[in-house]
Amino acid sequence: MAPTIKQINLTKSASEPFWKAGIRFECQSTGNCCTSRGSHGFVYVTLVDRRRFAKFFKISTLSFTRRYCEKIGDFFHLKNPKADCRFLKDRKCSVYAARPTQCRTWPFWPENMNAKTWNTEVKAFCPGVGKGKLVLASEIETFLEQDPLN
Ligand code: SF4
Repeated sequence: MAPTIKQINLTKSASEPFWKAGIRFECQSTGNCCTSRGSHGFVYVTLVDRRRFAKFFKISTLSFTRRYCEKIGDFFHLKNPKADCRFLKDRKCSVYAARPTQCRTWPFWPENMNAKTWNTEVKAFCPGVGKGKLVLASEIETFLEQDPLN
């Protein structure tokens, strides 16, 4: 599966991480995270992401960027003609092997990793939370370091 769609302003929590004992998570393939919700409307793509996509589509990185991306400030994101991700087809990711970093790291995004947001928004939004294998704190830290807006 994968995800989406995030906003540009990050809120970093300075408190003790509520996830220090790890969190169970397993994607349930609902496609929820690939749909626009409120201010979460962008799929950001780093240079690494754009190169991966270019290889997937067998075109140059420049061609991929020109055809599929727009830039806001210093950040590229997918150009989505509709609100949801352009690569979401029948509630599934049609480019799963090439999905961007933010899709690979969902739901472990900096703006999600405070207890309030996690318990009120992420849990309600994503049915994968609380299911599957335990994702260790060290793995969560690695996901957080990969955030495309860092
Ligand atoms: S690229 Fe795939 S996983 Fe990422 S938001 Fe689009 S459809 Fe979802």
